Amino acid sequence: MAGVTLAPGVTLFDLAHGRAPDEPASSKVRWGMLVDLNRCASDCDACVTACDRENGLPSEKTATSAQWIRKVELKDLRGATRSVPVMCQHCADPPCVDVCPTGASFKRADGIVLVDRHTCIGCRYCMMACPYKARSFVHEPVTGQRPEVPRGKGCVESCTLCVHRIDRGGIPACVEACEATGHEAILFGDLNDPHSEIAKRVATYPTTALRADLKLDPGVRYQGL
Ligand code: SF4
Ligand code: SF4
Repeated sequence: MAGVTLAPGVTLFDLAHGRAPDEPASSKVRWGMLVDLNRCASDCDACVTACDRENGLPSEKTATSAQWIRKVELKDLRGATRSVPVMCQHCADPPCVDVCPTGASFKRADGIVLVDRHTCIGCRYCMMACPYKARSFVHEPVTGQRPEVPRGKGCVESCTLCVHRIDRGGIPACVEACEATGHEAILFGDLNDPHSEIAKRVATYPTTALRADLKLDPGVRYQGL
């Protein structure tokens, strides 16, 4: 855990968003992402590659492989196509949580929607309920696990917003990778903090929620769509 040790046993957690291990997630925060499609290059998939690497997902995909973020070709009414990164939208009113019979699907106080792999029974109700097709069922035995991202055959999983990074004051791997390419198309931050860059951008520019008609209040917004 990053922080500054003031004295033996006394640590100041100095990072912008980090929290101590015993500190619960706060409902004062709503983590979100803003994807600027004017900056996103159609031939770039650095976010997808970074997600696979960060979370131990297979880079060689089969038809049934888990995938937490995709580049999806969307066509507008004039026939023009856009390549759009789509991941779990971390809905404020998530239908995946509503339908889960075991409580394995849950939303944290800070808006991150997760699956508890210990209680997921693999019924896949949540996959049917998710209008964004954001969830994957793990069909194959899992190899190459990352210790911070436990996965298991027979469970459903989806984008965690890289919660293991966020809780240490970091940013999601896809955001970091996009920044490294120079595109800087994905902005991460606290939508509830009026002083955050993401909140200022959402307040200043027109943004779109995918399938806004469903009124699920996604934590992922799009600019330039
Ligand atoms: S995008 Fe799908 S999986 Fe993610 S919170 Fe919304 S309904 Fe649930
Ligand atoms: S697959 Fe798991 S997380 Fe999804 S609804 Fe069933 S028990 Fe809940």
